[in-house]
Amino acid sequence: MATSQVGGLHHVTSVAGDPARNYRFFTEVLGLRLVKRTVNFDDVATYHLYYGNETGEPGTALTFFPFEDSAAGEVGAGQVTTTAFHVPADSLDYWVDRFDEHDIAFDAPDVRFDETVLAFRDPDGLEYELVATDRPTPIAPWSEVVPEEHAIRGFHGVALGVTDVAATAGLLERMGYERTGETEGRVRYEAAGDHAVVVDLVEMETQGRPGTGTVHHVAFRVPDDDAQLAWQQRLREAGFRVTDQKDRQYFRSIYFRERNGVLFEFATEGPGFDRDESVDALGESLQLPPWLEEDREAIEARLPPLDLDAEAPR
Ligand code: ZN
Repeated sequence: MATSQVGGLHHVTSVAGDPARNYRFFTEVLGLRLVKRTVNFDDVATYHLYYGNETGEPGTALTFFPFEDSAAGEVGAGQVTTTAFHVPADSLDYWVDRFDEHDIAFDAPDVRFDETVLAFRDPDGLEYELVATDRPTPIAPWSEVVPEEHAIRGFHGVALGVTDVAATAGLLERMGYERTGETEGRVRYEAAGDHAVVVDLVEMETQGRPGTGTVHHVAFRVPDDDAQLAWQQRLREAGFRVTDQKDRQYFRSIYFRERNGVLFEFATEGPGFDRDESVDALGESLQLPPWLEEDREAIEARLPPLDLDAEAPR
């Protein structure tokens, strides 16, 4: 793959409500691993929780800013409307049973572009899909909770709500995505990488509103700082207002809004979540980047209590 192309998704970040409820859903029901427990570096009174496979590889990382009392948003144009996970082709019967057991509402499985899709919502109302597919993927699942043969193998892709399909399509093509299909108000694009390659553009009329139960931004993976810097320049030349590089401790990031208003991030593949705790211990304790470590006591005092070992109420 040429370095001028974007490999696929890196992570998806959303706004949630109660952090403990969020934790229980994504670890106990979906069977993802909590790979990092830190704070929002731009708002240290809020957690930033990262879920993924064993190491939270780029293309598996689903992350949340849980605000206990923030207002509910509304899903619509200018946002990621659905986040889709890759599951093995024959695993939906397992997931339907699992959702029944956990009282999770879901839609009847539906076929889209020859893959079967099981749509469901998280406790904050965010929309997800399990896409049963025999696409090859190098991603190994976290199989401590859901058996390996059915477990989530990172992202399949995302759907973006757009009012002007052509505007975002042009950017995706510039990023190396190719148009691979079209069906009922949905145009599919796929990146040249080997996982988490799908971006669907879904035409919508109503603009979304940020808040709890909506996606905050979507991050695409670039190999390293050099590739990121080249992108920053290319995007600025194309008229996008791209931020300076920000150190997110586990990766480095640039951000900009694409023409339909979706907040895009380009994030480096590394250094990864094991830079401040061992792979075995990922997610077990609150990690702060060096520049916040001296304020740890004050930061911990302001964060809501989050006892991840507590028995889940059923
Ligand atoms: Zn991000």
